[in-house]
Formats: sequence, C-alpha cells, structure tokens
Amino acid sequence: MKNIYCLLAFWLITGSLFAQTKPEATEVWEPEPRVVTPGTISSAPSDAIVLFDGTDLSEWVSAKDGGAAQWKIEGDHMTVVKGTGDIMTKREFNDIQLHIEFRAPAVIEGEGQGRGNSGVFLQMRYEVQVLDSYQNRTYSNGQAGSVYKQHIPLVNACKAPGEWQTYDIIFTAPRFNKDGIKVASAYLTVIHNGVLIQNHVEVKGTTEYIGQPKNKAHGKASIKLQDHSNPTSFRNIWVREL
Ligand code: MG
Repeated sequence: MKNIYCLLAFWLITGSLFAQTKPEATEVWEPEPRVVTPGTISSAPSDAIVLFDGTDLSEWVSAKDGGAAQWKIEGDHMTVVKGTGDIMTKREFNDIQLHIEFRAPAVIEGEGQGRGNSGVFLQMRYEVQVLDSYQNRTYSNGQAGSVYKQHIPLVNACKAPGEWQTYDIIFTAPRFNKDGIKVASAYLTVIHNGVLIQNHVEVKGTTEYIGQPKNKAHGKASIKLQDHSNPTSFRNIWVREL
C-alpha cells in the first residue's frame, strides 16, 4: 500500500515538472487572429474603409455647414482651396488606425506656421499637425507631427516640400462616464514616413491655439482636415476601426 502512495506522489511531482518544462504548456491557440492582406504604400488593406482614393469627395463634407466639400481634386489627390474651410468625414469614429498621405506645396511660400500648414483632427478636436517642417523652424510643439501644443515629435522625419509623405496614426479615443467626467485620456501614436514620432502619448484634451486643453464629454466623431490657407494636398486616405 505504501508503495502505491509513493508511486502516486512520484507520478504527480514528475507530471507537474513536465508541465512546467513543456513548451506546449504555454501555447495559446484560440482565438486565431483573422487574416488581413497587407497593403502597399499606395493601396489600402482589405478591411479598411477608404475615405479618399482620388475618385471623389463623397466621404467628406464641409465642416462649416455640412454642405459639399469644396477642395479641388486633381489626378489622385485633393488640395485645400483657401477660404473654403475645413472638411470632415461623414462617418464618425472612436478608436482607429488612420493612413493619410500629404504633400506640402513645392513652391515655398511663407515661413514657420504659414508654410504648408494643415492638420489631421481626430474626432474633430485633437490635432496631429501637418506642416512643412523641412528646414523651416517653428515652435517644437507646433511642428509637423506634433500633437499640437501638447507633444513635440520625437524626431523631424519631414521630406522636402513637393514630396509625398505619410502619417500612420493610431488613435485611442477618450472615455467619459455618465456624468460627463473624463475617466480615460485619448492616446496617439504617429508614424511619419515610416518613422515613429509619437509613441502612445497621452492627449491632454482638445487642441487649443490659446489656453489650456478642454475635456468636455463627447462620443464618436468625424476626422477633420484643416484649411489653414495653404494649398496642402492629400491622397490615399483610409481608416480601420479598432
Ligand atoms: Mg494645423
């Protein structure tokens, strides 16, 4: 009888030791991530919502009055028409991955904030600055790739004016409770021309030109592109909801 207990103890100890040293013990097989076909730089992945492919502005409206977006389409891109105002997506989003390509005017006009200025506003409120920051100094927290007035980009990855550039933006929307109090901040990660420039930074609140960020409760909202009076162009815009 005693021998049986010894055998049982031996079996349990060696069994648990085996489980700790077996590689299979820590393999997780379910759920299996679904397959997504990666895109090249010029085409969207299979599960993306295409917001602009050069065809038309059917996904966009004027942010001013909700009327037709007035920016000019030429070839595969659209260009800001000064004075027509910001444009915004008809669709509203929370957490997203956004790909957008932009080009500062080849002919350099203006300086500092007045050169190739536009902006990608997540949820209408949180700006990733678009600017021609190629050999064009301005305040660091307002240069290309800054979370405007909140976070300086890690590096300046700008290409020369007239060259196409990319932003790949990962945005986590802020969360508010039933009383309208912010319980979790928004976060932004930005890859500029393949270079990480914002690494999961906390968004302090709305983008403000003057004064401090605000944190009024809101839900899903549009992506907005800024008319800052400079003829900045955009192409190949797509988004994946997370
Ligand atoms: Mg701007």
